[in-house]
Amino acid sequence: MTLRAGVLAVQGDVSEHAEAVKSAAETHGEGVDVVEIREAGLVPECDVLLLPGGESTTISRLIHREGIAPEIREHVAADNPVLATCAGLIVAARDAGDERVDTLDLLDITVERNAFGRQKDSFEAPLSVDGLDDPFQAVFIRAPVISSVGDADVLATWEDRPVAVKDGPVVGTSFHPELTGDHRIHDLAFFE
Ligand code: GLN
Repeated sequence: MTLRAGVLAVQGDVSEHAEAVKSAAETHGEGVDVVEIREAGLVPECDVLLLPGGESTTISRLIHREGIAPEIREHVAADNPVLATCAGLIVAARDAGDERVDTLDLLDITVERNAFGRQKDSFEAPLSVDGLDDPFQAVFIRAPVISSVGDADVLATWEDRPVAVKDGPVVGTSFHPELTGDHRIHDLAFFE
């Protein structure tokens, strides 16, 4: 089977996510067609979606301007998987704590942008993640803090803060799972 994976390509690590989803699919004997999403009309053809990092204010503005936002909401309403990372997580949240980010309300969480603190602008941490046997080396880059979780499952925490959550078909991480060559988070989001 060939999976059609849409990567929101208005900003962020598009090729790294494409590689991660391809390598996750390979271990399941599946092929992947990667579609870069920059305009409306493509999301409805995708089986799974990736919302990469970047700048959440910019991503939010573009998906609303281009008419992509309602298509992403419909994709999730039809129970299709999404992996939202870092700025993608902020855009997918119920509340981003910043009026410049018009969120998609796909994850029942509130977030605080750039809230891990200046000395921790970027850091790596070995996380134990629900559903993974061994720790996942997570790369955090100006990452959001998940400040409250409503009706969603916490998959991982770092220093007592949730950093990976699942709400129905949507998995969100405050870190960048596409940067280490370890595709287990993509696997968890799309093939488990
Ligand atoms: N700091 C960015 C924001 O608030 C997110 C950073 C990232 O995606 N690495 O939108």
